[in-house]
Amino acid sequence: MTRDVHHIQHPLIQHKLTLMREKNRSTSSFRRLLGEISMLMAYEVTRDMPTQMIDIETPLEAMQSPVIDGKKTVFVSILRAGAGFLDGMLNVVPGARIGHIGLYRDPKTLGAVEYYYKMPSDMQERDAIVLDPMLATGNSAVAAVDRLKEAAPKSIRFVCLLAAPEGLKNFHDNHPDVPVYTAAIDRGLNDHGYIVPGLGDAGDRLFGTK
Ligand code: URA
Repeated sequence: MTRDVHHIQHPLIQHKLTLMREKNRSTSSFRRLLGEISMLMAYEVTRDMPTQMIDIETPLEAMQSPVIDGKKTVFVSILRAGAGFLDGMLNVVPGARIGHIGLYRDPKTLGAVEYYYKMPSDMQERDAIVLDPMLATGNSAVAAVDRLKEAAPKSIRFVCLLAAPEGLKNFHDNHPDVPVYTAAIDRGLNDHGYIVPGLGDAGDRLFGTK
């Protein structure tokens, strides 16, 4: 199976991502930019969402017009940096449900350790969009999707801001059926598992914890 990677190169997204990468950018600006980018990425990720025709009345006449069923979408935020992606996505698909998976990276092994998991009911009827800004080693993303597949959603997509080639390979070696949407594919990983050139620790920069 060929790897399904959507590299979203819209100039607005690329411009905002450049601003986010700058090391002196403030926490509030970083957070605002991530929110803006996630709205723009939502546009791409939802491009082929099914619509259904409903009956409405304009001031002039009755017509049939398409709507999407946002309630059938579940955004799955990987804590904690996924939260930064979530708000922008919800601005665009306000009816979506939200799931959370709490994972942290063991600093020694870089393996993913789960500490929280909560999904809506009826996952089998929902299309899942998994959110994590950084696809680095891919271990967290693989673990999150492993776990999510137990709930058997109708479909799964993975959305990140930055991906490392190693992470993309690891992810698709384990989940070749899950498309990845990313705004950039960077050079690689450093010895600590950080994406380079990257943007640093997305969670710390988003929440101002360092
Ligand atoms: N997580 C981050 O926040 N940044 C990286 O570069 C890698 C993982």
